[in-house]
Amino acid sequence: MASIFTRIVNGEIPSAKLYEDDLTLAFLDINPASRGHTLVICKQELSGLLDLTPELVVAVAQTTRKVARAVVEAFQPDGFNIVQNNGKAAGQVVFHYHVHIIPRWDGDRVMTSWKPGSATPDELQASAAAIRTALSGGTA
Ligand code: 5GP
Repeated sequence: MASIFTRIVNGEIPSAKLYEDDLTLAFLDINPASRGHTLVICKQELSGLLDLTPELVVAVAQTTRKVARAVVEAFQPDGFNIVQNNGKAAGQVVFHYHVHIIPRWDGDRVMTSWKPGSATPDELQASAAAIRTALSGGTA
């Protein structure tokens, strides 16, 4: 079954569209965290970042930057968050790749940050070594 965002791409369900090109589409989130909360999707139905080709990553990033500039011009927020959830554990609900642009105003408490943890230098080096090994394997 097509994702809810594919149905938006196809015009089967309505959305407040902002911008589209061959590969991407931007529209307002139906349950905005703040005024101007926008979603940028790749039109192709792919679940998460690791499913995108480098070309699609670039296309979504370019649209995100373009639309974020417009949101900033329209609403003059004090800042904005770019959020992109991958997987249920990370809070992803719609499994069709999308980036959130969430305008922020000083003191708005719209989003809480993560709680900083701690790691020993040895633990950091062990984590870095594991990731470097994956990178040098050529699959990552
Ligand atoms: P996720 O948690 O997957 O990163 O976020 C999915 C987002 O999609 C949510 O913020 C939710 O409000 C938004 N959303 C879900 N269904 C619809 C819809 O039918 N239309 C629009 N415009 N946004 C939707």
